[in-house]
Amino acid sequence: MNACQKNSVSCFACCGLANLDLPSDQKEALLDHRTHEFEKLNMDFSRFPEYRQRREKEEEAIPRHNSETYVCPFLGYLEPRRPGCMIHPARTGDPKSQNYSFYGASICLSYDCPAKDREEENGHSLYSDFLESSFPEQYHRLICDSELYSLLETIPDFPDSVCKAEKPVQWLIQLIKLRLKHPQSEKNTSFERLMVRATQQEAAVAALFRPEDRELALTCLKELMQLANRTAH
Ligand code: SF4
Ligand code: SF4
Repeated sequence: MNACQKNSVSCFACCGLANLDLPSDQKEALLDHRTHEFEKLNMDFSRFPEYRQRREKEEEAIPRHNSETYVCPFLGYLEPRRPGCMIHPARTGDPKSQNYSFYGASICLSYDCPAKDREEENGHSLYSDFLESSFPEQYHRLICDSELYSLLETIPDFPDSVCKAEKPVQWLIQLIKLRLKHPQSEKNTSFERLMVRATQQEAAVAALFRPEDRELALTCLKELMQLANRTAH
């Protein structure tokens, strides 16, 4: 298990689905359709290129938030309600099977968003565990949110200082709920980067939260900073 595939939830943001400008029920229907089509291939690798071409063609008319960000048709359902890579080596038994995709195996297997990267480095999964338990339905929109993660990293000793508590820290819950209200939070593919310094709190909050939520977001952040500083002493 890692930040992409947790016990009860999964993230698939860097495979591009959120880049499609579709309501969530239509994205789910698309994943169902892809899965159904892919299953007909019976894991016959020789049919993967044709599947990819056909799906890319069929999906090309769907509007995208960012024309530069690729949407991979090999993302489907690994099991009900668990999207994931249908040609991942764990399923195919071949470490190179993702070479049939646009990115190729080396990128698919090595790319880590900042939150995942940090968890691999630290050897613990406090932040993704916290999101899994507190925001299961929105997990895939949050763990990949690199801009939000940059802001959270300005909290001293994050995530230990605010995710380790036995009960979830309400200021963190509140801050994340505010972030979910921003339209960008529906479109994250993990490649977005905060265009201001995260340490410039007001500017960072202006980039991440709706105007009507910014004051409360700043209060949440201030409380989290104080809590983290108290924890450290
Ligand atoms: S955004 Fe991060 S957690 Fe999500 S699928 Fe990509 S690497 Fe995994
Ligand atoms: S091939 Fe790569 S980009 Fe495509 S679904 Fe699998 S991991 Fe995602």
